[in-house]
Amino acid sequence: MSYVLAKSKDDDILSAGECGGAITSILKYLLDEKLVDGIFALRPFDDIYDAMPVFITDSEDLISTAGSYHCAPTMIGDIIERFIDDDTKIAVTVKPCDMRAMHELVIRHRINDDNVYFIGLNCGGTVSPVSGRKMIDLFYEADPNDVVSEEIDKGKFIIELADGGEEAVKIHDLEAEGYGRRNNCQRCDVKIPRMADIACGNWGAEDGWTFIEINSEKGQKLVDGAKKVGILETKTPNDAAVEGRSKVENIMIKMAKKNQDATYPLVSEMDEWSRCIGCYACRDICPVCWCFENCELNKSYFKDGTNMPPSPIAFQGVRLSHMSFSCCDCGQCEDVCPMDIPVSLIFDKLQKKYYERTGYVAGVSEDIKPPLYSPEKTEL
Ligand code: FAD
Repeated sequence: MSYVLAKSKDDDILSAGECGGAITSILKYLLDEKLVDGIFALRPFDDIYDAMPVFITDSEDLISTAGSYHCAPTMIGDIIERFIDDDTKIAVTVKPCDMRAMHELVIRHRINDDNVYFIGLNCGGTVSPVSGRKMIDLFYEADPNDVVSEEIDKGKFIIELADGGEEAVKIHDLEAEGYGRRNNCQRCDVKIPRMADIACGNWGAEDGWTFIEINSEKGQKLVDGAKKVGILETKTPNDAAVEGRSKVENIMIKMAKKNQDATYPLVSEMDEWSRCIGCYACRDICPVCWCFENCELNKSYFKDGTNMPPSPIAFQGVRLSHMSFSCCDCGQCEDVCPMDIPVSLIFDKLQKKYYERTGYVAGVSEDIKPPLYSPEKTEL
């Protein structure tokens, strides 16, 4: 592992980028040098709350993807797993939970990591797009429609308005009132995606620069290559910057563990599961669940010979026993549950129990493998 501070030498990318525009520059290098066929990143559509995944094949289009979208808890791994074949070379921007899900899919031979550049973003947390709008309406003297950009800095959620004004509220104050980061983000203790080839962030970075942690040989080649073609400049961060970054990461992890201690005892699986209507939404949105055609939950013995969904206990119990050890706590199952079951809190709590017994951290551990059989793609 090594560290660099990096900054784009392209003025348009530098001004559009969240920090130093290093990621957009590296992605441009990959496309221009034909090292990849395409890039998965995010692009805002109607407004800043609805950034969605896009597949970019022309580097001219990359500028529209630059920036950090905190109200986009989007996951890209399952899109790659379903729609990108093993021979297509791609790069993808990933926050930690997205990287963890993809790592789980790599272990299951569903993503060929030889052909993927993982470009990691450190992540202090995402905000739900719906509650994000509501929160701006309630806590900021602003119309959510007038917000042109948002950022999270020094513990504050900051919005910039169309008239140039800026407003900031402490995330702690928003969360005390039930707003701010999504529940799963508040308890997430993986803030830097070290499984990615590079992990980029603003922690430890000077203004206008991106702090990059280089985690693989591939990552080193990316930075060196982008420098060589003249789109990126780099310098070595000083010890204080490296220490400062590590300090903030540790504070964030401590806060997450405090949240885990406070929230895990609040859920009792059986009480929550009794509300399950077997709609399959949690299974279908899970970025790690992949064997839909062969899914146990489609089998008749779980449906008592009828076409009805499995009973609540069978449905949730099967999912839990198949997936909880691999849960990357992205929170999407909870977002889509029509019965407000805290699915991801339950799964994450079980993942942590599994970790205590085996040392396995979903989507992070390399030496220990998850327990379920992972067939080669061709065997299915
Ligand atoms: P840019 O050149 O602006 O490129 C950013 C790339 O990331 C673009 O391709 C963009 O489409 C893609 N992207 C944007 N949002 C997302 C998303 N939600 N999911 C996947 N891809 C996305 N850094 C820290 O050090 N500490 C933090 O606490 C922290 N929290 C973050 C929280 C979120 C939700 C996000 C998205 C980023 C966070 N970052 C954090 C990373 C930081 O904001 C910058 O993204 C990073 O420094 C890279 O800057 P850049 O100028 O090089 O990137």
